[in-house]
Amino acid sequence: MVFKKPLGWLLAGVVTLTGASALAEQSNEPLRVVTTFSILQDMAQMVGGERVEVTTLVAANEDAHVYQPRPSDSRTLAKADLVMENGLSFNGWVDRLLEASGYQGERVIATQGIEKITMASRDAHEEPDDHDHDHDHDHDHDHDQGHGSYDPHAWQSLVQAQVYVDNLLKGLIKVDPEGKAYYQQRAENYQAQMQELHSNLKARFDALPDDRRIVMTPHDAFGYLADAYGLTIVAPQGVSTASEPSASEMAALVRQIRDRKVTAVFMENIGDTRLVEQLQRETGAKLGGTLYSDALSSKEEEAGTYLEMLRHNLETLLSALEP
Ligand SMILES: [Zn+2]
Repeated sequence: MVFKKPLGWLLAGVVTLTGASALAEQSNEPLRVVTTFSILQDMAQMVGGERVEVTTLVAANEDAHVYQPRPSDSRTLAKADLVMENGLSFNGWVDRLLEASGYQGERVIATQGIEKITMASRDAHEEPDDHDHDHDHDHDHDHDQGHGSYDPHAWQSLVQAQVYVDNLLKGLIKVDPEGKAYYQQRAENYQAQMQELHSNLKARFDALPDDRRIVMTPHDAFGYLADAYGLTIVAPQGVSTASEPSASEMAALVRQIRDRKVTAVFMENIGDTRLVEQLQRETGAKLGGTLYSDALSSKEEEAGTYLEMLRHNLETLLSALEP
């Protein structure tokens, strides 16, 4: 009887110690980060380094616009410590999937705080006399299928991508405060590389003649890039790969390409490029190569990381547009 109470205390102590060592072991495991598509996967890996293990739902060279989630995606999300998505309604399927998975953890919305481009202003820019503002809005919802009123493709700007890194950094620190200094250092380095690439190539874009600044791509994924470097994009599919132009819209595009003198036409690594091939044949516009829009290439190919992808896109555009 004399020993009962001390023994109880001792046992409680043992349990506490066991619990603590299990926790310590757990914190040596990498943080499980799940991103919705391959571009965010690379960013999360770059900033998270060896403290994270990143899984992506939509893989390299896959089209996130028309992605069909698999049952395993829900299980992957359920086990995540951090989820990173683009926001601006880029992946219409994400909310439903997260709800189904029961995931309650931290969500990084990569585009939070970026300088957004509205779809209405881009439409008005392409066809100045076509509609008033109210109509532009309806027009967007009819054609964008899964997109909101803002263009979601902000990763195509090396300046906006630095905001992606800021948001990611905040999320990582929240979930793993012990890694704060490590993440901050890596994020800073990464942002400096983005800024350097941007500054190095901007002067060449600035030097382009005014009549060599209009290009065509299959879907409207390059609005932020165009804004950053003073280009104009003509895109038959609009902002989503899920929509297709009617015959009369195609005829209008042929006229538009001829009248506005598109300097070059580009393919993309995702989606259906037949429309653009057809328009290229009909108008005789120059073929400028392949741009990476909404997905990285495989590691072995030319755009296996975000920085490689942007370098490739910008160099490909410049080599077609420079006189
Ligand atoms: Zn897209």
